[in-house]
Amino acid sequence: MLMSSIERLYELYRNFPSVQTDTRKLKEGDLFFALKGPNFNGNTFVQQALQTGAAACVIDEEAYAVDGKTFLVPDVLTALQELALHHRSRFRIPFIGITGSNGKTTTKELIHAVLSSSYRTYTTEGNLNNHIGVPLTLLKVRDDAEFAIIEMGANHQKEIAAYCRVALPTHGLITNCGKAHLEGFGGVEGVRKGKGELFDHLRATGGTAFVNWDYDYLHTMSTGIVELVTYGTHAAAYTGDAVQSDPFLEVAFTRGFEGTVRTQLVGGYNLPNVLAAVAIGRHFGVAPEKIREALEAYTPSNSRSQLVQKGSNRIILDAYNANPSSMRLAIENFARAGGGRKWLVLGAMAELGEESLAEHEGIASLIAEYPWQEVLLVGGDFGKIDHPYRRFATAQEAGAWLKEQNVQDAQLLVKGSRSTGMEQVLDYL
Ligand code: ATP
Ligand code: MG
Repeated sequence: MLMSSIERLYELYRNFPSVQTDTRKLKEGDLFFALKGPNFNGNTFVQQALQTGAAACVIDEEAYAVDGKTFLVPDVLTALQELALHHRSRFRIPFIGITGSNGKTTTKELIHAVLSSSYRTYTTEGNLNNHIGVPLTLLKVRDDAEFAIIEMGANHQKEIAAYCRVALPTHGLITNCGKAHLEGFGGVEGVRKGKGELFDHLRATGGTAFVNWDYDYLHTMSTGIVELVTYGTHAAAYTGDAVQSDPFLEVAFTRGFEGTVRTQLVGGYNLPNVLAAVAIGRHFGVAPEKIREALEAYTPSNSRSQLVQKGSNRIILDAYNANPSSMRLAIENFARAGGGRKWLVLGAMAELGEESLAEHEGIASLIAEYPWQEVLLVGGDFGKIDHPYRRFATAQEAGAWLKEQNVQDAQLLVKGSRSTGMEQVLDYL
């Protein structure tokens, strides 16, 4: 967009700073961006948006122009991203970028809990971490901001680099590089390269990286970055380890922080997420007591690592998503937890491309290493491989079968990719 044009758009945004891209969520006074998707054209919703009370609409098809109410740009998505960059560029505060295969949202929420105990902090809402969510998050940062935390999701190369050009992170954290979105990235090496674009940006701009020192590949990836703040279970500036993870994770520190943090998070795999939040809190001078309080008060939502009690059954609900790395950790963690009568209720993993069958077979072999009361495998490629466990096409069918069994006094791990909707199993228990 021309400079004069972006400045005019910025003026419009300053008058109407509440940006909306979905007419169903539109509120009076919002600035509506008429985005296009594969199955819709936002321009066609302009009349509706104005009737609902949109202050103005940004459009890219002249035919939908309304005098004094629409702002015409060559491309609405590009305009949204350029506007976000323009806004971002006015701030001289830390912008923390977070990416990685697993645990981004949890880590982001924990960091937000810690920083917002002491500073005015803005962050990604829910999981809005894509090419639309990143600019929308930036446009939510208000003038009083002291910190911003931006979650960046990616399933292919160059995506994180593009987000960095808009969000200009001064600090960054890669939770891990695992087996997620293998299809789009082209294998695990591809995942490292893709997620590493955040570190490439920090390297080029003199930024600071928060690095999980337990992962050798992150040592390599962070080489050449001016400032590294390390966390992990050994030899890191912020060192701590799990002293209890059944069911709730408790972390004891030996370096950089004193004492223990008793979280309300289920699952030992949350350990690095907690270590990262402590490291960032201390790095930015949040008082230790405030860090502890914030982390101990945090409870997850959206089926992420939640503990649900239903009658006499205890359910670890981790049905928000799944990929081979997070599935493995969740199964191992559950297998090692105390108590007996363990039921596994697992949905298939999506987006694994060519490696999908082999990855599902890998999970089936892992399951075989432990004793279980019962194992239910649901949908997708779990239906296409050989395994000795119970098979179901959908979460509802698995739920209905569980209901017939009248399960009592059991522990269940319920996990699967978003598309399998495994949380529906709970309706039957
Ligand atoms: P998305 O790609 O959907 O944005 P995300 O990276 O934001 O996912 P979360 O939503 O925080 O991840 O967590 C999703 C699941 O990943 C959790 O429910 C848990 O099973 C697993 N998980 C969380 N933290 C870690 C971790 N540090 N290492 C491995 N797995 C993790
Ligand atoms: Mg997320």
